[in-house]
Amino acid sequence: DRIISSTAAAEDEAVDRAIRPRRLDEYIGQSAVREQLEIFIQAARGRAESLDHVLVFGPPGLGKTTLAHIIAHELGVNLRQTSGPVIDRPGDLAALLTNLEPGDVLFVDEIHRLSAVVEEVLYPAMEDQQIDIVVGEGPAARSIKLDLPPFTLVGATTRAGLLTSPLRDRFGIVQRLEYYTEAELTTIVNRSAGLLALAMEPDGAAEVARRARGTPRIANRLLRRVRDYAEVKADGRITGAVAAAAMDMLKVDHNGFDTQDRRLLLAILDKFDGGPVGVESLAAAIGEERGTIEDVIEPFLIQQGFLHRTPRGRMATRTAYAHFDRPAPPRIEDPTGALF
Ligand code: ADP
Repeated sequence: DRIISSTAAAEDEAVDRAIRPRRLDEYIGQSAVREQLEIFIQAARGRAESLDHVLVFGPPGLGKTTLAHIIAHELGVNLRQTSGPVIDRPGDLAALLTNLEPGDVLFVDEIHRLSAVVEEVLYPAMEDQQIDIVVGEGPAARSIKLDLPPFTLVGATTRAGLLTSPLRDRFGIVQRLEYYTEAELTTIVNRSAGLLALAMEPDGAAEVARRARGTPRIANRLLRRVRDYAEVKADGRITGAVAAAAMDMLKVDHNGFDTQDRRLLLAILDKFDGGPVGVESLAAAIGEERGTIEDVIEPFLIQQGFLHRTPRGRMATRTAYAHFDRPAPPRIEDPTGALF
């Protein structure tokens, strides 16, 4: 498993419960998102109404699930959690919806993976607080309408573009989470270290933050491994040098790149002559799933300016050539003629 994998692992869960922010004012960074939600939540509470449906999108590990829990907490309601691939049949979703208490938050992770028939159930539920259910079979089958309690759907997805437009249009509030800055991640690492009672020095926190790929989940995971290293190889104090040595051992470099990031960039440079190369060829070349490349590996490399996405595939940028000490061609031009 990738140390910097940004999907949740079982071992993370116990620690996660201890360090996951519960209130909006503990949610670090994402200031625009926080500011807007604070107003919308306060307004909904003031009117004693349920909050409008919320869609949160952004790469894994940036805090979508955390935000859903915070929304429920701030509204003072329960959160029910499910995910797109888990809901097999329309009846499963109908059962979830009819069991909600008034005002509850229903959190649907990976909402882009709902099947079309299940999605159909959501439309009238979101719009009119009603669902149509079919009772009986064959010629005797008839559809009856059931009223639902007011509720807030919070949907999370790695990319908003993966949602069908009728679904996307039914969310009144759409929030995009951004990669975190080093300063924000440093605050997160210090907060976690405090909650875990670690002997953290400022340089240690900064070093973990620098290599966390802009992602709180990765920062917290690296912190746990750095803690192990500090306890075994040092006296438990997490200095800058101890943190750096631990992450070097994990092969997480100064940019936060791990083996997979380096393999992807090196494949483009060495096997595909800098690109453009289609994502399928790239997936085959590095033995990784297309979805993982698109959702987990690539967005950060693009945001950091190492990778350029063009209509005909991915291209390495000048920064990528420099990172691997490869001479860059004099002109790097993408298929649209843009120079970069
Ligand atoms: P996602 O649902 O987007 O994959 P999560 O909400 O599970 O991400 O976040 C992963 C972990 O990162 C959380 O358990 C939490 O500890 C931490 N985290 C996420 N966002 C923040 C934040 N804004 N401030 C502090 N910690 C955060």
